[in-house]
Amino acid sequence: MKGESREVGVFVRIRPTANFAQDFIECLPDGQTVNIYRRRDPKNLPESKRNQLSWSFRLDGVLHNASQEEAYTRVCQRVVLAALDGFNGTVMCFGQTGAGKTYTMTGSTESYKQRGIIPRALQEVFQEVEKRTEHIFSVHLSYLEIYNETLMDLLSSLQGSQHLSPQGMVVMEDAGSGVFVRGLSLHPVHSEEEALYLLFEGEMNRIIRANALNKTSSRSHCILTVHIESRSRTLSDAKYVTSKLNLVDLAGSERLRKTGSEGQTLKEAMFINKSLSFLEQAIMALADRRRDHIPFRRSKLTHALKDSLGGNCNAVFVANIYGEAAQMEETLSTLRFASRMKCVPIEPAVNQRMDPAAQIKKLQKEVQRLEDELFIYNTVVKRPSSTYEQLSEAQLAEIQSQVQRYLEGNLEEIRIISVKQIQAVFAQFKLALQEQELKVKAQLCQTSNLVNKDQIVNAAGVKEWYTTGRPQDVEAGSPGVSQKQTERPNATKAKTKKSKDKQSKTQREGTPVSNKRSESACKSKLNTAQTPEKEKESQEPDADYQDAPESQLPGNEPFRSESPPPKAEAFEDFKVGKGSKLNLIFKENKAVMLERHGLLRQLTEEVNAVKRQIDCTTATLLQREETRVGQGHHMVMDGDPVLQESNASLLLQLRELKAQYRQRYEALRDIKAEVNYCQHLVDQCRTRLLSEFETWYKQSFPLPEEEPDITMYKNSAQEDDSPQSVEELQFELLTDSSSSESFYNARNRTLKQRTSRVTPSTTEQKEHTRMGRTKKTPFNSPC
Ligand code: ADP
Ligand code: MG
Repeated sequence: MKGESREVGVFVRIRPTANFAQDFIECLPDGQTVNIYRRRDPKNLPESKRNQLSWSFRLDGVLHNASQEEAYTRVCQRVVLAALDGFNGTVMCFGQTGAGKTYTMTGSTESYKQRGIIPRALQEVFQEVEKRTEHIFSVHLSYLEIYNETLMDLLSSLQGSQHLSPQGMVVMEDAGSGVFVRGLSLHPVHSEEEALYLLFEGEMNRIIRANALNKTSSRSHCILTVHIESRSRTLSDAKYVTSKLNLVDLAGSERLRKTGSEGQTLKEAMFINKSLSFLEQAIMALADRRRDHIPFRRSKLTHALKDSLGGNCNAVFVANIYGEAAQMEETLSTLRFASRMKCVPIEPAVNQRMDPAAQIKKLQKEVQRLEDELFIYNTVVKRPSSTYEQLSEAQLAEIQSQVQRYLEGNLEEIRIISVKQIQAVFAQFKLALQEQELKVKAQLCQTSNLVNKDQIVNAAGVKEWYTTGRPQDVEAGSPGVSQKQTERPNATKAKTKKSKDKQSKTQREGTPVSNKRSESACKSKLNTAQTPEKEKESQEPDADYQDAPESQLPGNEPFRSESPPPKAEAFEDFKVGKGSKLNLIFKENKAVMLERHGLLRQLTEEVNAVKRQIDCTTATLLQREETRVGQGHHMVMDGDPVLQESNASLLLQLRELKAQYRQRYEALRDIKAEVNYCQHLVDQCRTRLLSEFETWYKQSFPLPEEEPDITMYKNSAQEDDSPQSVEELQFELLTDSSSSESFYNARNRTLKQRTSRVTPSTTEQKEHTRMGRTKKTPFNSPC
């Protein structure tokens, strides 16, 4: 908790005197300004220039003829109250020896009225502790003396204190508790009386030591620290506040030349002046906001007061001065120091701390509360009891299995139980995705390798190769189908196109169905003789039912009419209706097969190119051999060196080509197996599609005269341009794909025409007639 940013408080207290130098010291009525007029030789200066040798010091307050009570109220009360709120505070007196520092801080130990800031502060602390009942306070006191740069504990004489030698006491710094003196005793106090007792005990020790060391009490710096800790009685949290209230009585500064000190006194004075000088340097550094280093460690005093001079501490300084003209030089020096101190910035802040043990306890309680709440919630919403701990091996295995089943479609949903379970499910999904990626990559690599390495070989060719040592032409597709055969002959294509056009034309003209069927059957037979079965199928386009209006798409109910529709038409209906699933599978399988087939063809062409190279190289070699024999050379190795070298190069080339050929065969064998397998699947699909259509057709159109239907189509006039029957279609599917293209085009057109002809009323009428004539057979889906 940060407070407002401001400067330290600085007051001036003038020691009362009967000889107040009113010509030199002027206290303005504002109570904050003191002017100093210094005239060394006023006679030599004209009246107008005398004011040039004057100084004006505007501070936080000038305590002139002020009582002890007023001094406390104006200087210290605010700091004490803030200390009880958790702000560190420092009240420090400085100035010339005998100027009233000790009087201001401690006051008279004999007179209650004359008591100084320290006893009044202690009184205020305990009065406030009594008042602030909502907090529990704990107060401790320590009393440190610094004499000739040596640290001393003024309360070490008390019971329970450590009796450390002065060498054992060290100023330390800690990130948590700030600056502290190791070895300095800390005494708990519960009342004003106990606190005053410690103060007086410390004062007594200070005097005793002064006597023993032959010094005066004013030759040492003293810091009485009140350590306050405050915890709320109402809020049982781990937060609490601490503060330190430093009440400092500095040793007096003095001019060695003026006092004529020597021996021990000189030594003391030197230490005092040195430490005061370092204090001044530290103050100057603190006042300069650009400085990032403050020389606190140069003296014990500054080091011990490191966190009490500026920063987050409420610091108030009292400059004690004499009121006599004889001390004007020291007075001026003290006031200058005071004005510099006035520039030290402070930003008081509460020292809030966390009790680790209490914090842990609080968090544990919170966790328990939340778990209880979750338990109640789970019970209310009837959720299975969830665990908030790490998942066990068995639970993880179950989640893995669930995800697997979900991905396979065997599990409709994965029920969410807990956050941990969700995380585990996501992890499993990620794993599955990664595995899938790897699989796809591997497949892609395999395909890519096949293409790049041109590994194409025909089984027959290689068989020959292994037996005779000479490769044969490789043929694509199934065994017995040459590459030439895989290409669609132009003649067939043209004929098919013609047939297609003819069919379309006939349909547009409304030719009787029976006639059409006959011709289609004839054409199918003709095509079969011209084109290899499987090649036809691989090039056959898929049925195009995209153009058919939705109202025309058959659903569960087949199309009803007085006479059963031609099978070709019904087959189209079936493919987009009942048999759509099977048809889709069929198309997909066929697409894969076509893709594989294309690859096989490409590889075949490439391997044949290798084979041609082999043939060519072999022929060249044979030719050379014949030439050599003709010239009477019988030994190849004894021939012409140039020829021999050239033959060796050709032999090497031939060997490489043969190796290439052999390697490609392996790859080709694999791809061929794939093509065969795909072909098998396509055949299976087709057979099932047709057989299921047959079943569906018989069930949907159970006409007494249906049996001779196909025969009739086949035996009817050959000039009939009607669409093909299913049997024809089946036949055609296995023969020529180009004719099926015509079929589907014509079929679509027919469908469109029929849509425009058949109105709902006529449909109903036809349905009624049919129902009255035949017993309705329940439709069974073939799929
Ligand atoms: P210092 O600590 O600065 O060396 P002291 O506080 O010991 O000086 O004061 C020296 C003497 O002056 C003491 O006897 C003290 O009682 C007296 N004295 C100082 N200031 C005042 C004051 N404001 N009112 C009355 N007596 C004072
Ligand atoms: Mg003193």
